[in-house]
Amino acid sequence: MYDTLIIGSGPAGMTAALYAARANLKVGLLERGVPGGQMNNTADIENYPGFDLISGPELSMKMYEPLEKFGVDNLYGFVQKIEDNGRVKRVITEEETFEAKTIILATGANHRHLGVPGEAEYNSRGVSYCAVCDGAFFRDQDLVVVGGGDSAVEEAIYLTQFAKSVTIVHRRDELRAQRIIQDRAFANSKISFAWNKTVEEIKGGDRQVESVVLKDTQTGELSELACGGVFIYVGLDPVSEMVADLGVTDEAGWVLTDDQMATSRPGLFAIGDVRQKHLRQITTAVGDGAIAGQQAYQYIVEQG
Ligand code: FAD
Ligand code: NAP
Repeated sequence: MYDTLIIGSGPAGMTAALYAARANLKVGLLERGVPGGQMNNTADIENYPGFDLISGPELSMKMYEPLEKFGVDNLYGFVQKIEDNGRVKRVITEEETFEAKTIILATGANHRHLGVPGEAEYNSRGVSYCAVCDGAFFRDQDLVVVGGGDSAVEEAIYLTQFAKSVTIVHRRDELRAQRIIQDRAFANSKISFAWNKTVEEIKGGDRQVESVVLKDTQTGELSELACGGVFIYVGLDPVSEMVADLGVTDEAGWVLTDDQMATSRPGLFAIGDVRQKHLRQITTAVGDGAIAGQQAYQYIVEQG
């Protein structure tokens, strides 16, 4: 029986583990993949205090390595379901069941798909959701990036080191990305913009993407843009299926908590990107994790 079982070892989960273990709780940190979460898909992080510039995988390892020293059990498993039986909660993975007095859900968010023809067909054959993973395969090619948020614009800039050109296709005429990131994109001669356009279809030959069909959101006019790859960054969906039955999410699946990271179920906390919140960042994930680690301790003390 764990005092606290944390699901997901992104920045939120790793910080919660650090705080809970330092409070002398018996902590399990359960992850389905490699530690770091979305940070593993980020080349350069420039807004994590204390580092001018650090790569996502390096920051992931810096957060992960000290945990063992504090006695955190690093566990592997894909969580399917969480059962809340009051004082004893169960976490069910594909292979085993864990028991814990408290659970901290830190499962983050997944990239969203466009849902247009050709997207699934050309996945990994020109369609990608990860510039850091796939960018180097697209040397000297014309690329399309879809979206207008921080991810789309930052990753478009990243891709210019490989690509001949990058066109950012955005459904409005104004970016959502932070101003400093926008300014860098506007100043980059390899980047151009297709404003007020949506991608209607991704087309290609037997092997690879060859073009996208664009629709003008104001006139409805269709056009075709030749490209060798399409990088899709149109936002995130919460990873919260495992608590779908527990009544702790909003309609879109984001988990609702108070400012102490507590859900409506005593002893069940949620942190990081999976929460309904305004600013999804590494810093805010880390802040949530610190609060939840401490609150898990408080809850166990109060339960006696
Ligand atoms: P995640 O990082 O999403 O981690 C969740 C973890 O839970 C994952 O490891 C996942 O494998 C695990 N998990 C999920 N489901 C299960 C399951 N069923 N069973 C077991 N484990 C599970 N933020 C910044 O501050 N600066 C940046 O420069 C920056 N750049 C970004 C670039 C990109 C391309 C993206 C997509 C995001 C970027 N962000 C950046 C946002 C930042 O990465 C996230 O806000 C942060 O990683 C959220 O942390 P988290 O721990 O809540 O979730
Ligand atoms: P996001 O901020 O939700 O932006 C999604 C973008 O995709 C928006 O521009 C949106 O358009 C567009 N979009 C959504 N659905 C679409 C569709 N069906 N077709 C076409 N376009 C669509 O998502 P994100 O950029 O992935 O960022 C996620 C979180 O991570 C944010 O909190 C972000 O701040 C954070 N992040 C931070 C950094 C950093 O700090 N450096 C870097 C990356 C990500 P509209 O603008 O019209 O809504």
